[in-house]
Amino acid sequence: MAGPAFRLSTLFPDWDETIFHVHEDWLVPHYVNPEKMTALLNMHSWILQFNGQTILVDTCIGNDKDRMPAEKWHQVQSPYLERLAQAGFEPEDIDMVMCTHLHVDHVGWNTRLLGGRWVPTFPNAKYIFSRTEFEHFQANAADMDRISFDDSVLPIIEHGLAEMTDGNHVLGEGLLLEPAPGHTPGHVTLTLEAGNHTAIFTGDILHHPLQIHYPHWNSRFCSLPDEARTSRRRVLEYCVERDALLMPAHFGPPHCCKIDRAGEAYSIRWYQN
Ligand SMILES: [Zn+2]
Repeated sequence: MAGPAFRLSTLFPDWDETIFHVHEDWLVPHYVNPEKMTALLNMHSWILQFNGQTILVDTCIGNDKDRMPAEKWHQVQSPYLERLAQAGFEPEDIDMVMCTHLHVDHVGWNTRLLGGRWVPTFPNAKYIFSRTEFEHFQANAADMDRISFDDSVLPIIEHGLAEMTDGNHVLGEGLLLEPAPGHTPGHVTLTLEAGNHTAIFTGDILHHPLQIHYPHWNSRFCSLPDEARTSRRRVLEYCVERDALLMPAHFGPPHCCKIDRAGEAYSIRWYQN
C-alpha cells in the first residue's frame, strides 16, 4: 500500500530543493510528487522461500488497529491476507516472521483481531525480534509506538511464539541476522546468501532511494544519528562488494535495486525482473 506522503523537507532535515532538479528524471513519478514536493513511500512486506522455510519480513500496518492521530493507518481494512493468498500463501504457511524493528509500520500484521482479542496472524510461525529492540520499546515506547507494541508485539510473547536474538544470529544456512542500530536502537538486517546470489533486507536503514545518493541523510525518525549513518554505509558497502540486492521496506516500484559506488556516495541500478 502507499505510505504517508511526507514533505521531503520534513522527512529529511538535510533536504535542499535544488536536489530535486538534479534527480528529477528518475524521481518522478514513483518516488516524489513534484507538485507537493512529497516523498512517495511504499509499505510492503517481503516474503521469501529459502531452504524449505517461508519467511515474512516486516508486517506493515495491520487491520482494525487504533492508530490515531495517524488517520491513514487508523482502522485500516486492507486486503493484505487476500494478496498473500493470491501470491500462494495462507497464514498457516508462514514459518518465520522477522521484524527489522518495532515501529508501528513494521509490526501491524503480526496480529489480527479475532473474537475481540489480538491473536498471532501466523499461528505456525516463530516471530524473530531483536532483544535490544524489544527491551528498548518495552521500556520507552510512547504514543502510537506504545499502542502498536501492546497490540502487535506483546500478544506474540503471550502466545509463546517469540524468539529473541542477540548480536549476529544465524537463522538458518545462508540467512544471517545482524544488528544495524541507528534508525532504532535494536534495528536488524537480514542477509540471504545463496551461491552467487545475495540479498539484504534492510527495513528502514534507508527510507527513500535518494539516500543512496546522499547516504549521510538521516530521516527525522532515526533515533541515533551517528549509528544510523554508520549502519547505512555498512549496508551500501556490502551491496557494492557483493553485488547484493538491496531490499528496503519503503521504496516505490520496483522496490529493490543494486548499488554502485559513485565517488563518496552511491548510485542505483533498479532491479529488472
Ligand atoms: Zn518504516
